[in-house]
Amino acid sequence: MHEAAPPVAPLPGAAACADDTPASPPLTIPDDADPTQDELRRAIAEEQFVLHYQPKVSCSTGKITGMEALVRWEHPLRGLVPPDRFIAQMEESGLIIALGAWVLRSACRQTRGWQAAGLGGLPVAVNLSGRQLQSDNIFETVAAALGESGLEPKFLELELTESFLVHDPEQAVATLTRLKQLGVKISVDDFGTGYSSLSYIKRFPLDALKVDRAFVRDITADPSDASITRAIINLAHNLKLTVVAEGVETEAQLGLLIANDCDMIQGYYFSRPVAAPAFEAMLREGKSLASDFISSQRAERTLLLVDDEEYILSALKRILRRSNYRVLTADSALQGLRLLAENRVDVVVSDQRMPGMTGVEFLRRVKEIHPDSVRMMLSGYTDLKSVTDAINEGAIYKFLTKPWDDEHLLANIEEAFRRKEIVSENRRLMRDLAQTNARLGQVNDELRGLLDDGALQVKRDEATLRVVQEMLQHVPVPLIGIDSEGMIAASNLAAESACGAAAPMIGRFIGECLPADLVGWFHGDRAQACDCVIAGTAYQVSSRAMGRRSASGGVLLMLDQTGVPA
Ligand code: C2E
Ligand code: MG
Ligand code: MG
Repeated sequence: MHEAAPPVAPLPGAAACADDTPASPPLTIPDDADPTQDELRRAIAEEQFVLHYQPKVSCSTGKITGMEALVRWEHPLRGLVPPDRFIAQMEESGLIIALGAWVLRSACRQTRGWQAAGLGGLPVAVNLSGRQLQSDNIFETVAAALGESGLEPKFLELELTESFLVHDPEQAVATLTRLKQLGVKISVDDFGTGYSSLSYIKRFPLDALKVDRAFVRDITADPSDASITRAIINLAHNLKLTVVAEGVETEAQLGLLIANDCDMIQGYYFSRPVAAPAFEAMLREGKSLASDFISSQRAERTLLLVDDEEYILSALKRILRRSNYRVLTADSALQGLRLLAENRVDVVVSDQRMPGMTGVEFLRRVKEIHPDSVRMMLSGYTDLKSVTDAINEGAIYKFLTKPWDDEHLLANIEEAFRRKEIVSENRRLMRDLAQTNARLGQVNDELRGLLDDGALQVKRDEATLRVVQEMLQHVPVPLIGIDSEGMIAASNLAAESACGAAAPMIGRFIGECLPADLVGWFHGDRAQACDCVIAGTAYQVSSRAMGRRSASGGVLLMLDQTGVPA
């Protein structure tokens, strides 16, 4: 297996597999045949796998914010085999458990390696199959991959499929809750293809949803895919989940996703999955999306005009010619709804009397699908009751009358855009606030952990100090600690008895407890030891300056009994 980081330990079970296929006869499998179990076992034994990495890119900064690790089989004859040609077979045979553990270890180690090389604290996402998640040792496998690599858990994201969630929801909640306790992030891959719903998703401890590329593929052409993607983004944000759009291949798709507040994208448009050295090169060169493209997508103010009278639409377009808005027109409510599915629209101005659906009904529908849009009615006809009802329930922001005054109409449209922008900005701030709060909570937890560690350390230090003090008392040599002011700061039992002190010496000055010649020596040059007599016993007194190995100061006196009587 080829990677930039040093090789990982062999796959579990690799030796046994190698024993099964000792001679390694040449492989003669046709290119399109499914791999046999023997072939797969040998692939594991011979470590014929490699990880490629695909960047995830922020829709607000344009920078790489993470990567997904994707496994490839480096087949000796067929070349690089994509995962959809062998993952299902590996799941059937259970070999996926050994391969999955290798993927986890390699991805964690590579990510830690990039962090250590100063290439930023990017998280790595690893795909887990249902079979892996149901295995008994999944927690140990994840914890071991983190432990061995030294990667902090918050930099590992586990991608799982909706089918795992719907298969046995109670079990899934339990498994995910335990995994979350390790500190890793969890996202749902290929979202929208399984059978879960967003309200159902609420039950699981998730961090992100990845919108399946089937929706992204037709987002610019198929209105229903556009509205599904938009609905997923809005609802996921309400559930405080990050949204990643997969399979973004074109600028148009990217533009629509940015305009709809998608958080991150992943896809060939920015980069295909690439081998580790190529990914590293991308990080080093700081590859990113052009920031002016991002801001141009965000800033485009879009207005939808709906009226069944062609000449009204033309007149409105004419007076809006000099504005910077993107103006869309529809000659019926149904066409208006179609345009709303395909485009992000900020302000809607609709007529009331239209065949098929009235303006009030139309704006009510718009409110349900696009609650953030600002909706106005421009009509000569006033069925006061239905219009006031619609205004009171919030479906219509303003009622403008035909014939209109150009200036007045333009001012109202401008004000509607400003209102929309304030609402969007508030929403964005709320989301940022929620994210910041979550991060703050995380930091607080980390801090609490550190404080707990600190308090534990203080307790340990106190205990050690008491032990050392007790040991000092039992040392048979008289020891006296004197601070820089000449005050006795410590003494042991032998010192107290040698000095014949009735009261403890600690806290007294040396002049009060020790003979004058010793005090004189203490205040002078202490390079040579001092011979002196204390309470009728002769001692040689030497000194050691404190503070070389600890944050203490002063001097330690050691009294060696010379045995020479006074
Ligand atoms: P996935 O997790 O949804 O990964 C995204 C797949 O979409 C990748 O295919 C990637 O190459 C492809 N992709 C990314 N951007 C684009 C794009 O713009 N257009 C198109 N057409 N495709 C794009 P890949 O690498 O072939 O992987 C296929 C699937 O295999 C993955 O889907 C994942 O479910 C599975 N897989 C990959 N690696 C692992 C692994 O280590 N363990 C497990 N259990 N499954 C894995
Ligand atoms: Mg994935
Ligand atoms: Mg996917």
